[in-house]
Amino acid sequence: MDYFMDVTIKRNVKQYINNLDENTLFIYSPTSINKIKFENDKVKTINWHDISKKIENIDIVVKEIKKIEKVVTFGGGSTIDIGKYISHKLKNEYICIPSMLSTNSYATNKVALIENGKKTTLEAKMPDCIILDDSILKMSETENLYGLADVLSIFTASYDWKLASLDIEEKIDKKIYDMSINLLNEVMQFIQQKSFEEIINNNNKLFEYIGIAGYITNLYGTGRPESGSEHIFAKELESMIDIPHGISVSLGIIIMSIAQGRQVDEIINSIYKLKVLDKQYSYGINKDIIQRCTRNLKPRNGRYTIVDKYFNNDKYINEVLEKFFDKKIV
Ligand SMILES: [Zn+2]
Repeated sequence: MDYFMDVTIKRNVKQYINNLDENTLFIYSPTSINKIKFENDKVKTINWHDISKKIENIDIVVKEIKKIEKVVTFGGGSTIDIGKYISHKLKNEYICIPSMLSTNSYATNKVALIENGKKTTLEAKMPDCIILDDSILKMSETENLYGLADVLSIFTASYDWKLASLDIEEKIDKKIYDMSINLLNEVMQFIQQKSFEEIINNNNKLFEYIGIAGYITNLYGTGRPESGSEHIFAKELESMIDIPHGISVSLGIIIMSIAQGRQVDEIINSIYKLKVLDKQYSYGINKDIIQRCTRNLKPRNGRYTIVDKYFNNDKYINEVLEKFFDKKIV
């Protein structure tokens, strides 16, 4: 399996995209393409909004596209997922140009698409090449920090994994577990030692950290090492309101670490330092939503977490909510 850092190069993205030829399928996100002057009428282009993440639409593209040597994507997670899947189906080269670091999909071999109205995870391929351009990434500072939430989620997810091993004898892969804990510790240290300015100006490090989290799930085969109860919370919240994944996961990490009875100050400080929750109210977060979301949580099949253990107990949920609101996070 390719290690994503080994296939990563730095290029001037505007120049690269404007020189793509007619043997290339270029998939872009409209917000990203507006950041460069796109002047290329040779390349075959698709705006990802026109096909969306529905597999039935994407399969039509796969069937109709012929004589394509490579797929190039320019955008965030959705664009990458679509490109990775199409390239995997066409068995050709895939070049990934992330316009932001809000997800780790540039470093994984799986995609999340919509099949029959339901989100499904499918096999795809790793990018054959990832192109970074700092001047492009700089334009998405907030989104890049959101990506770190999917690294900090190891804090609660690893505890859930331990819980599963104690309660239902789920096997812990020690090597993978240690890798994810080491990554978490390194990232927490990085956040604590650097100023906010230093963090947002170090896209190379953010790219590496967020990518390694994806790489670890590649190695393990499922999201277990970094997706636990906080992601159950995030998914529930995202079904209630339209909110960036980085914000919903961050709220999930805080609530679930309280539910797990952990020392929470350090993780809360890290989340605050990244200012990930600064825009939460503009997406409709309030106490009522948090309460309803927390009370709605259902265990996820095949992923034993603290939700399985305690979230059928109203008294317990009330205590968790009380402690959460005491922290004045919402
Ligand atoms: Zn996530």
